[in-house]
Amino acid sequence: MARNYDSRKRTLVTGGAGFVGSHLIDRLLERGNEVLCVDNLFTGARRNIAHLHNHPRLEFLRHDVTFPLYVEVDEIYNLACPASPIHYQHDPVQTTKTSVIGAINMLGLAKRLKVPILQASTSEVYGDPAIHPQEESYWGNVNPIGVRSCYDEGKRCAETLFFDYHRQHGLEVKVARIFNTYGPRMHPNDGRVVSNFVVQALAGQPITIYGNGAQTRSFCYVSDLVDGLMKLMDSPAEVTGPINIGNPVEFTIRELAEEVIRLTGSSSELIEMPLPQDDPKQRQPNITQARAKLGWEPTVPLAQGLPPTIEYFAGLTDRG
Ligand code: NAD
Ligand code: UDP
Ligand code: UDP
Repeated sequence: MARNYDSRKRTLVTGGAGFVGSHLIDRLLERGNEVLCVDNLFTGARRNIAHLHNHPRLEFLRHDVTFPLYVEVDEIYNLACPASPIHYQHDPVQTTKTSVIGAINMLGLAKRLKVPILQASTSEVYGDPAIHPQEESYWGNVNPIGVRSCYDEGKRCAETLFFDYHRQHGLEVKVARIFNTYGPRMHPNDGRVVSNFVVQALAGQPITIYGNGAQTRSFCYVSDLVDGLMKLMDSPAEVTGPINIGNPVEFTIRELAEEVIRLTGSSSELIEMPLPQDDPKQRQPNITQARAKLGWEPTVPLAQGLPPTIEYFAGLTDRG
């Protein structure tokens, strides 16, 4: 995207053809921005942005962020990275490269252009947390050599790079630690708990609870997350984060299964399967900082966010 004399803001979204990125692009376009979507389509899909086909203010570039990128933009959202355990463990070396080399390239781009850059970090930087709920000052409990490490440590190193570019080069950085998010356009086979349970319930197959289902997660609807990311990008330069963005209402995995069954009217049974390695037992964001610094908090409860998500998965099933 070349700089032009239009006064519109030009926003680069890496990972823009993914689940979160495509919703972010919808909102940026609604607001009037020009958007450059950069994605290598590893886990993303053209269908996530197909409804924007021929949009006059959207440009798509198929590109891998582990390679340098020379474009002209006014702000950068760096979302490129596979996010579900199945996807990020498929090629773990590439996952670390995407987080680390991808961050270096996007930070280099931001440095040359002197523009703000937001990193989609993750609650996984807290690992299997020893404190609960997790606040930003907690340094985390991460296994550096386990099967989740390519993602967790890659994201941790990316955070390090963001804060070193900030300190060393005066770059305006924004780091969001995103907690479990769900909604339409999630990948149906990404193995995440919401997609698995909804797909299983709709197909009348057993709902696969890993372990005894007593582990907890807090689920944020995608529109709330996007709202939080945009508020963070638009916040004053001194608000660098890291800042938790997530829904603090905590559910056990068994409660989630029961809610999905209730809302789908499914007759699926619940079955227990082995718990994956390093599976965190509890996860709940402390969002005091997001409330205070961004005036943000989630507005969509699980019972309201699940129906459109179920409708989306049902639509995929209908189309085969
Ligand atoms: P997603 O897999 O749907 O989207 C990631 C996108 O990045 C995909 O479109 C993929 O093709 C693209 N991508 C991957 N590697 C790339 C590379 N090397 N170069 C260019 N593009 C590449 O995942 P998502 O759920 O939309 O997650 C978006 C971001 O948010 C990720 O950085 C993820 O780590 C972070 N995050 C998501 C969640 C969540 O619950 N969804 C939680 C915490 C953090
Ligand atoms: N980079 C990029 N686009 C740019 C500027 C830089 O992709 O517009 C990449 C470049 O390949 C470099 C990386 O970002 O390897 C880091 O850039 P930086 O200026 O920090 O480091 P240097 O170029 O000095 O190694
Ligand atoms: N999980 C489950 N059944 C599934 C998929 C996941 O019980 O079919 C559990 C998983 O073990 C974890 C929780 O649900 O405790 C959330 O898993 P997910 O992969 O969605 O996200 P993450 O572990 O990264 O938070």
